[in-house]
Amino acid sequence: MSVNSLEALDRNHWVHPVASWAGHEKRGVTIMKSARGAFVTDADGHELIDGFAGLWCVNVGYGHESIVQAAAAQMRELPYATGYFSFGSEPAIRLAARLAELTPGDLNHIYFSLGGSDAVDSALRLIRYYYNVTGRPAKKQIISLERGYHGSSSTGAGVTALPAFHLHFDLPAEGQHYIASPYPYRNPAGSDDAAVIAASVAALRAKVEEIGADNVAAFFCEPVQGSGGVVVPPRGWLKAMRETARELDILFVADEVITGFGRTGPMFACEAEDVVPDMMTMAKGLTSGYAPLGALAISERVYRAIADNAPAGSPIGHGYTYSGHPVSAAVGLEVLRLYTEGGILANGQRAGAHFERKLAELADHPLVGEVRARGLLAGIELVADKATKEKLPREARLSEHLFARGYANGVIFRAFADDIIGLAPPLCCSESEIDLIVARLRQTLDDML
Ligand code: PLP
Repeated sequence: MSVNSLEALDRNHWVHPVASWAGHEKRGVTIMKSARGAFVTDADGHELIDGFAGLWCVNVGYGHESIVQAAAAQMRELPYATGYFSFGSEPAIRLAARLAELTPGDLNHIYFSLGGSDAVDSALRLIRYYYNVTGRPAKKQIISLERGYHGSSSTGAGVTALPAFHLHFDLPAEGQHYIASPYPYRNPAGSDDAAVIAASVAALRAKVEEIGADNVAAFFCEPVQGSGGVVVPPRGWLKAMRETARELDILFVADEVITGFGRTGPMFACEAEDVVPDMMTMAKGLTSGYAPLGALAISERVYRAIADNAPAGSPIGHGYTYSGHPVSAAVGLEVLRLYTEGGILANGQRAGAHFERKLAELADHPLVGEVRARGLLAGIELVADKATKEKLPREARLSEHLFARGYANGVIFRAFADDIIGLAPPLCCSESEIDLIVARLRQTLDDML
């Protein structure tokens, strides 16, 4: 089918996620056709280097035949088995066990979802369940961070703090609270590490005091905020927030949907700070985008409390037809094998160190206010004036405009409101591929001068 007729079908029928409906009609769709390694080719035959790993997900890179084989073999043998009513399949059982092994501490119990949003939604539902069955039903309020993104389910979109996800959706709903993001570049209390950490800890304490600890269920955060503009908190921040949540007797939920599976260096960002959350959400890199899958890891303590206190003889009524889907699970197992035995996690660590060094060279560019990176996750904040941090004029910083400039130069990145370029290259990148991403990015910035 020609690109033109596909575009017409798309315009008339596909309601795209997180897109302007009117804008989409005018702009038309960009159709991707094929991909290999770190490169994608669109339907017009343009090859681009993918500096964003799809949507921060294709961590192992494109075109791994062993993943295709794992999916095909599973589809042939058993394409579907429910996880409901204590049925199951071998890949789902093995994947749950492998994730329990890889996740920190006593996160030993795995609840499968289809992606990140429903992993977050599962966390929210099960947190309510946990407090109800353990006799503290008033603990319902949730605290999360400004600039946070936790998906777009009807409950999770409230934990998300990005305005577009609230506007005209009657969110945030009652019971949702936010504290300031640990955003050193624009932190009123100063950008040094200790000030940023102290401000967040004080904000969490103050918020819990305001609501009353007896009413607060949990604090949710991303170890590095992604869609809010790749906000990289200082080292020690995550640990301080985890400890504060423990002291305040509220659950600590780490959303590792982006940061999981080597994106920031270690398998999970929590590991770098020796943090064991009460719950951890993951998706994206779990299957590297080859099949939809997410997971919620639950600590032994929370799991036990639910298991021991749930009403006997009544199932815990939360689940999806595709929870623990055997094909997604088989894909997940092979992707996890590639990270470890296939050496992709180690390659990502080397590539991440190189990426951080190369990106730092962009700091002298007249449009760059700040370069921030942790491993293969980076944000570049653009400004009109480096000294005053004044923002670019609105038309220059429209996300679509920045994206299109990069695309024309053969690099895919994403631009977020507030003039921030987000980058998340696949972990399989070589040093020369990282160099190519950064060179094309510099060219894109030069074009804007
Ligand atoms: N949590 C975080 C931190 C995310 O970045 C995302 C998606 O980008 C989600 C949750 C939602 O995941 P999904 O889009 O798979 O539903």
